[in-house]
Amino acid sequence: MPDPQVALVHSSQAVAVQVSQDFGHLVQGCSQTVLQPKDGMELAALLQTANRDGIPITVRGRGRSQSGQAVSVKGVILETSGLKSIQVNLARTPSTGLQASRTVTCGSGATWREVLAICQPTGYLPYVMPLNLDLTVGGTLSAGGFSANSHRYGTAIAHVQHLEVVTGAGERMTCSAESRPEVFHAVLGGLGRCGIIASATLALRPFKAHVRTYYLRYEEMEPWLVDQQRLAKISSHDSAKVAYSKVDYLEGFCASSIQGLRKTDQGRRPFVHWQYGLQVGVEFDPSRPPQDAEILEGLHYRQLLLTEEDETVAYAARYDARFRAMRQSGAWELAHPWFEALLPVAKAQEFITQALELLPFYFGDGHRVLMLAETETPELFMRPQSPAVIFAVLPTGIPADQVPEALKVLAELDKRLVQVGGKRYLSGWLGTMTPQSWQTHFGAQYPHWLELKKNLDPNQVLRSALFP
Ligand SMILES: Cc1cc2nc3c(=O)[nH]c(=O)nc-3n(C[C@H](O)[C@H](O)[C@H](O)COP(=O)(O)OP(=O)(O)OC[C@H]3O[C@@H](n4cnc5c(N)ncnc54)[C@H](O)[C@@H]3O)c2cc1C
Repeated sequence: MPDPQVALVHSSQAVAVQVSQDFGHLVQGCSQTVLQPKDGMELAALLQTANRDGIPITVRGRGRSQSGQAVSVKGVILETSGLKSIQVNLARTPSTGLQASRTVTCGSGATWREVLAICQPTGYLPYVMPLNLDLTVGGTLSAGGFSANSHRYGTAIAHVQHLEVVTGAGERMTCSAESRPEVFHAVLGGLGRCGIIASATLALRPFKAHVRTYYLRYEEMEPWLVDQQRLAKISSHDSAKVAYSKVDYLEGFCASSIQGLRKTDQGRRPFVHWQYGLQVGVEFDPSRPPQDAEILEGLHYRQLLLTEEDETVAYAARYDARFRAMRQSGAWELAHPWFEALLPVAKAQEFITQALELLPFYFGDGHRVLMLAETETPELFMRPQSPAVIFAVLPTGIPADQVPEALKVLAELDKRLVQVGGKRYLSGWLGTMTPQSWQTHFGAQYPHWLELKKNLDPNQVLRSALFP
């Protein structure tokens, strides 16, 4: 490895250092070689060479996962940044002129920002785009992909029509839920363990030009959760089997209000009183603005803090400000043991209450809650018995001397998550994953998960710090 004709090679020290960690800054890898294939054919050639020569490969998008999922311990990093083509496909039925199908085909290294820019002029957008638009399409689909509209549309992987994949064995193919479904299901939410997505074709939805957002404040957790379930209301809908809700975006936040320093077993600690925020967003055309009373009818909030409007495309990028602030403050370079849990809705209050008590103050606030629609998802994306709530602890950064304690707390939280029948979102900090922990995660699917690896990557070429 490598054949310079098929891929760009970076062996600079700077690049090697950059890819030796991920956004978590908790796992240290070591890789001197970074390859950037330009298309599926180059990808297949690389995988075939790796099989022949026994070279471990780790596929990497932007490295925004946090448990070494995209970190190589002793092999070659295969970066997807060269797989960038994006094409919108809009087909009309000749007899009626109606839109028959609308999709976008993206190279797996394309970012959501690039996809958004190309889709916007067509009047259509991918159903679910993450809050961070700089993630790659392939990296997101390898985790699952959720967003503030997941109460309507579920995960990003629920809207994939077909994929171009190169398996660990080096076989290149197109797959979908109907054609080579075992490969399709193995790579969506599959963390690059069985195959590499070269490109993905995603369904598109029409969008309205503006979003009106209502910022609501709650004093109690129960009405806050009840209102989210109510707003996310799921009922039978159109042929795309998406959930129906009268609002387009829904994001809950836990907000701390510090009331001084109180006595605890470990000395005086910040005394946190929790409040809860809810952002409710509705897309609209200027000719038909939303009726506020209709949207907010029957909700139990204490205060409507703010109503604001934005263009839908600008709204999709609203988290840029947060990420910019993290970079400016230096928090981006700190440790990020992020913990995203999928909870059975009936256990959400119990679990979130425990989490707020357990998490030390340096985890900050802003823990998020999203509702997850019951759309069909690939079989190896583990979720609790539906309906589910996503609870995400996303500290801006944990100082180095607090990391050992922080990881201990998250291990305890993980134990409690299993007890309430929850599942982890696999891009976050997972701790030490043993065969027993994978078995717990995959449950009855565990033998199938093992079998797929054996069949699709028989020489165990695809590895990472998470799958050494
Ligand atoms: C600031 C921030 C904001 C985030 N916001 C969201 C959000 O709103 N919604 C959400 O769902 N997630 C979010 N995440 C989590 C994010 O989805 C995952 O970390 C995602 O996997 C990262 O994408 P990436 O391009 O950096 O992938 P990487 O971290 O590079 O890769 C992730 C995993 O996918 C594998 N992989 C990457 N590309 C491919 C491919 N082409 N084929 C097969 N396997 C591949 C890697 O080997 C690895 O196992 C966020 C993360 C951060 C740091």
